[in-house]
Amino acid sequence: MMRKLIAGNWKMNGSLAANQALLSGIHDGLSAALGGKHADVAVCVPVIYVSQVQQLVHNMGVALGVQDVSVHAQGAYTGETSAAMLKDFGVRYAIVGHSERRQYHGETDEQVALKAKSALSSGITPIVCVGETLAEREAGQTEHVVKRQLAAVIHTNGHCISEIVLAYEPVWAIGTGKTATPQEAQSVHAVLRAQLQAASEHAQRVKILYGGSMNAANASDLLAQADIDGGLIGGAALKPADFLTIIAAAAR
Ligand code: PEP
Repeated sequence: MMRKLIAGNWKMNGSLAANQALLSGIHDGLSAALGGKHADVAVCVPVIYVSQVQQLVHNMGVALGVQDVSVHAQGAYTGETSAAMLKDFGVRYAIVGHSERRQYHGETDEQVALKAKSALSSGITPIVCVGETLAEREAGQTEHVVKRQLAAVIHTNGHCISEIVLAYEPVWAIGTGKTATPQEAQSVHAVLRAQLQAASEHAQRVKILYGGSMNAANASDLLAQADIDGGLIGGAALKPADFLTIIAAAAR
């Protein structure tokens, strides 16, 4: 069975002291949470803290991730960080196309696809986020929207699509305390799996994470679904006990 991935998205939270406290809490509880079983664990941190967290997670069994990456390799792009620069600091994952970046920074499906490509070209695994807004769900557009978002990434990345991690994050569930039911999430995950299968013979190895108010109480029901291969965790990733409970629910 595929190993599940639990990735924390810290968003714009933290400080040198808070990061240290959070990671030391995770460090202290990780082997008990895994209980001799396995799960992949990552933290996607604000880029300014990449160097600090690289040191802190060293030998901890937690991978380092970030929340965005430039589409460009280098040059006159003020404020951006290239995939090669991130790789220099041991970054393993980069979230791309998070709904907050699509919404507040106007990222298009095509830009998100290029960001995934840029990450892959430096050996960083993109965690590609797709998801519908509440208005889109209510208009019956959920499948159409997530398929359009994923299609752009498939179009730009070709057979490399089997190297991504995909995250289904219904926008109405992010930071709201409203979670998709396990059945609602599974039905979208199955649609995404079928789309990946049509694009790549290795689609079965793509992890499809669920994100959107996943927490210590609801994680095990969500993670029990056939096509839910892990979680992208916002708020609950900032509390060691909650994050560890989710990891325990993912361990196989
Ligand atoms: C996210 O932002 O990726 C997320 C899932 O946030 P939350 O868990 O807080 O809803």
